[in-house]
Amino acid sequence: MTFETEFKTWTGFCVSSDGHVIIHGVTEENASIIHAYNRIGKLVRTIPLNCSHKTTPYYVLEVKVEGQPSIAVSCFPCQEICLFNTTNWELRSAYKDTLKGRPKPGKICRGPKGCIIALNKVKSQSVCLFDCKDHMLQLKGTFPISINDPQGMCFVESQKYGFMLVLTKYVDGLIQAAMFNAKEVIWEHEGKIDGAICHPDGITTDGSSKVFIADNGNQRILVLDADSGSVLRTIRPDIEGMAGLAWCASSPRLAVRHKSPADLKCRITFFDV
Ligand SMILES: [Zn+2]
Repeated sequence: MTFETEFKTWTGFCVSSDGHVIIHGVTEENASIIHAYNRIGKLVRTIPLNCSHKTTPYYVLEVKVEGQPSIAVSCFPCQEICLFNTTNWELRSAYKDTLKGRPKPGKICRGPKGCIIALNKVKSQSVCLFDCKDHMLQLKGTFPISINDPQGMCFVESQKYGFMLVLTKYVDGLIQAAMFNAKEVIWEHEGKIDGAICHPDGITTDGSSKVFIADNGNQRILVLDADSGSVLRTIRPDIEGMAGLAWCASSPRLAVRHKSPADLKCRITFFDV
């Protein structure tokens, strides 16, 4: 199934636990907004964003706070994370620390126990962990990571290793898994599996043992076993201009974001895996 959004310019996206595709983009009127599309691709919600940034990355993900979903939106240049209530889409909490040397969040991914992991812009070989208790964002601490300034970041709860982070470097074609809160590498791929990995862009997990990575330069998606790093499968979606992956847990399938070749509009295609 494929549906088209109205965006020609977009940044972050995720799929919520009830199957909505939530995506940041810029409208034709040059407004920076979040759109939520239901499972048949109908636009059901619009959230305008307050900052002046438009085309710079926003990262969007759903976090469950005491069983209730919230949408976290991180603006990279603002170095700010906002938490929206998904009942009325009101802003519940925001984190921004302007003091010198304090952690500044950029890219975000889901963390352990309803927490958010954010790449720390002050020290890019570290991440900050945010708690969302009572729907309030609170900084819990900063932790080292195995590589500097990863482009892709995905948290996995492994049976074998406990909390892990899988990180990617776009330019180097590097995929690396390390224990959370450690620089110790568990496994890595340096462009050597089944032909070179070229520009990995987009990483997600099914929440158990599989990690999906868009190997953009080779127009394929790698399905990796999180514990061993071995390639379980290679998916060759017949689409051009892949730009990001998200896991849809409500009807287990992979959401692939890509560009319409005709008008460059952002499309979402779901794949059963
Ligand atoms: Zn901003």
